[in-house]
Amino acid sequence: MNRLKNKAVIITGASKGIGRGIAKVFAHEGAEILLVGRDLESLKNVQTEIESCGGKAAYYSADVSCEDETLKIAEDAIRRFGRIDVLCHNAGIYPQNWLEEMTSAQWDQVLDTNLKSAFLMVKACLPSMKEKKDGSIVMTSSISGPQVGWPGGAHYTASKAGMNGFMKTAAIELAKYQITFNVVEPGNIATEGLSACSAEHIQAMARATPLGRLGTPEDVANAALFLASDEARFITGQSIVVDGGQILPESHFQKFWN
Ligand code: NAP
Repeated sequence: MNRLKNKAVIITGASKGIGRGIAKVFAHEGAEILLVGRDLESLKNVQTEIESCGGKAAYYSADVSCEDETLKIAEDAIRRFGRIDVLCHNAGIYPQNWLEEMTSAQWDQVLDTNLKSAFLMVKACLPSMKEKKDGSIVMTSSISGPQVGWPGGAHYTASKAGMNGFMKTAAIELAKYQITFNVVEPGNIATEGLSACSAEHIQAMARATPLGRLGTPEDVANAALFLASDEARFITGQSIVVDGGQILPESHFQKFWN
């Protein structure tokens, strides 16, 4: 119940999906949370859910791809909590655009939202973490990019592979301030973001996973919780894959678990 007691946490992409799941799990463990997204109504709903279970949360609407707005997110957290203990950067988009038709505007939108935002959020939160010589940064990466390709997601896979590369270097540079930086790499997780997929496609994704189902936001949140907690104070620059075994098999072995 108290693995994040007295921790001031920023969670981006907290208005729905995995971020909402992380927020609920972190709140249950005693964190004080600033929920960040763009959709105020959804953010307010998540805050209400958390508070109705006895948790503490506030919300702030911002676009994480804009530097001015990321600085304001950090300012708001400092104003409310006096410090930032944990940055959980989870906001991201995954539109499907085939490489041959992909425009540079589509490429930029995904890279700005998923990767530039990671750099901007770290820069914004760094002064507070540096001052107290303590902090945990946890980001939602993906198996797509760091581990495998995803047709239609050249921009997305580049952004998530880029996030892992950024993490490794930043983990070294920030270690002198006792700031850790790790990522979670989810496989297929059932969230609002997958609502465009057909039922057949969702079933096919479940069949392609040895554990036989899509993950839940809580599956990802539990890994993020460990990395954000004091239990992981000597772990930095690492990733945890949360994918039900999806990337383990050679594809023609699928018949052995279905
Ligand atoms: P989702 O349900 O679509 O939610 C995305 C979240 O990101 C929303 O809260 C959205 O907030 C926020 N967001 C998007 N662009 C933003 C921006 N420019 N500024 C601020 N917030 C922004 O997606 P999800 O499935 O939960 O995915 C969350 C993360 O997990 C992403 O980084 C994604 O790449 C990663 N991931 C997901 C899966 C999966 O299978 N679902 C697998 C691997 C990795 P608003 O709508 O309020 O703007």
